[in-house]
Amino acid sequence: MNILKSNLLLLLLLLLSPISCSILHSSADLADSYDFIIVGAGPGGSALSNRLSENPSFSVLLIEAGGANNDSLTINVPLLCTKLTPNTQWDWNYTTTPQNHLNNRVLPFPRGIGLGGTSAVNCLVYTRGSKQNIDKWAELTNDSSWGWDSMLPYFKKSEKFNFPVDKHNITNQFNPLFHGFDGYIGVSVPGASRSIDSRIINTTQLLPSQFPFTVDMNTGDQLGVGWVQALIDKGVRSSSVAYLSPSVLARPNLDVLLQTQVSRVLPSSSGNTFTTVEFSNHNNSLQTLTASKELILSAGSIGTPSILLHSGIGNATTLSSLGIPPLLNLPSVGQNLTDHIGVSTTYLVNSTHTYDTVLRNTSLSTHLLHQWLTTKTGINVDTSENHLAFLRLPSNSPVLSSFGDPAAGNETAHFEFLFQNGLSQLTPSGNYLNIPIGNVSPKSSGSVTINSTNPFSSPLINPNLLSSPVDIHILRHAILTSREFINSPAWSRYILQDLTNASSVSELDEFIRANAVSFFHPVSTASMSPYGVTEWGVVDPDLRVKGAKGLRIVDASVAPSLPAAHTSAAVYAIAEHAADIIKSAYHTK
Ligand SMILES: Cc1cc2nc3c(=O)[nH]c(=O)nc-3n(C[C@H](O)[C@H](O)[C@H](O)COP(=O)(O)OP(=O)(O)OC[C@H]3O[C@@H](n4cnc5c(N)ncnc54)[C@H](O)[C@@H]3O)c2cc1C
Repeated sequence: MNILKSNLLLLLLLLLSPISCSILHSSADLADSYDFIIVGAGPGGSALSNRLSENPSFSVLLIEAGGANNDSLTINVPLLCTKLTPNTQWDWNYTTTPQNHLNNRVLPFPRGIGLGGTSAVNCLVYTRGSKQNIDKWAELTNDSSWGWDSMLPYFKKSEKFNFPVDKHNITNQFNPLFHGFDGYIGVSVPGASRSIDSRIINTTQLLPSQFPFTVDMNTGDQLGVGWVQALIDKGVRSSSVAYLSPSVLARPNLDVLLQTQVSRVLPSSSGNTFTTVEFSNHNNSLQTLTASKELILSAGSIGTPSILLHSGIGNATTLSSLGIPPLLNLPSVGQNLTDHIGVSTTYLVNSTHTYDTVLRNTSLSTHLLHQWLTTKTGINVDTSENHLAFLRLPSNSPVLSSFGDPAAGNETAHFEFLFQNGLSQLTPSGNYLNIPIGNVSPKSSGSVTINSTNPFSSPLINPNLLSSPVDIHILRHAILTSREFINSPAWSRYILQDLTNASSVSELDEFIRANAVSFFHPVSTASMSPYGVTEWGVVDPDLRVKGAKGLRIVDASVAPSLPAAHTSAAVYAIAEHAADIIKSAYHTK
């Protein structure tokens, strides 16, 4: 063999060996035992697997129902995020039960499947909510370690703030004091300008008391209009797979088993110790594996309660009536599902500089995708909006006096605007401004339940949107407020027509009931509650399942309340905190 050939062989071996060594496709390749078995590779499970396997004396297995996904262009290109759900290979493709307060519509309820979980299919907005939102967690758990001051270091620890790819000056677009630069998850401000940027900023200058500009909405003080921060690393989506980088996967004490759906957690012979996981690899027959220390569910706000209920952990009466032997009576499992609701308002505009033009021009779209592939620049480096607004009802609003304030406090938003320069779906003609509007402090809550003893059947998801009357008042007020934003002189001669076509209270309510959807931020289905409290809650503040041994939960389901924010930032921070809690339980760092 000549030198060239042997060098090539060496290179090939190097490329093939260390990177994929701990990704397992078959359960036949599992080690005999692991200290920790973690279920679900979304933000909760990926971050936790990484942090626990930092300790070389721990062995960790991460189990994920889906595949690797990471070579998909649609996942990696930020602007293509809206193509990832619903009804795709990357989605569990759930739907809700008919929503009573939304004209009985059945809504898509996407959840990501595969490495990255829902963070691989989400729309990348990075928001933490208000200080009051996170302090509410400390209040509800009676544990100050879940409050803002303790959690801010965990938000920062997970974050790798990076400068936008167009290298523009970002002074006044974020506050570096509140960001982490050495974590795993890429966060950046927009790397390409859009033609509506200046109109949005001008509106904050023309109407500063109603629409104040904020430099950074992730400081705990969230109110105002500002530049979006998005989960992007140098122009590429940053999902929780960032915590499973090749160098992390090269750790000899971490294995990741793909295409493996967990059906149940099983008790050991000694009562309430649940360290055994039951699963099917590639839809083959069920197998079990026992963790020598702990089993940790990170299957998300839908997957985690579903596994618990099928395991006999939930409301004992309901489980018995279904024919599932109850092992642990925890009536809150699957309850308190709280989610944001939103509706888009769309305007026809007097400009061709919108995304609609790109979508209708195949050669331009191809050129822009090629630009992203070759230089990671151009409009594809960003998510769907360059600006967000987090705003409140006026303090003298009759809605607040009639219903009370559903927000976590007087510095927490009731509603959010996302300013999109065009529609993300192809339309035959016209150019548009699209403003999805979310109620981010909803009072309504629903549930995840099961109606089958088959653990692989879909759960019943009922977010029960708008079940609390205050929620539609907030959305209606938010639509009217968005019109005041657009009526500012900054938009003169730009807006041609408001396509919402609803003015009176009844027209607006009917528009909302006919068009509103989930914003896909379910939390609290396995909520934390204080130690010693058994009337509500599923886990203690150390994330151990109440009444069980060896079983914890680390994902969005444990959040005791829903922040006025897109939720993944909170889940990364929860997982970082959880890793420290678990390490200290074993006297290690
Ligand atoms: C369309 C959409 C847009 C969104 N946009 C944003 C956004 O812009 N910004 C933001 O911050 N958040 C957004 N979110 C929400 C955010 O992505 C989630 O809050 C976050 O991913 C939750 O993390 P998690 O770890 O709790 O669960 P998930 O990310 O859902 O991860 C759970 C993992 O567990 C796996 N799993 C489930 N059941 C099993 C089982 N039985 N066996 C094995 N594995 C299992 C799943 O396949 C998945 O990989 C969006 C969500 C959706 C659906």
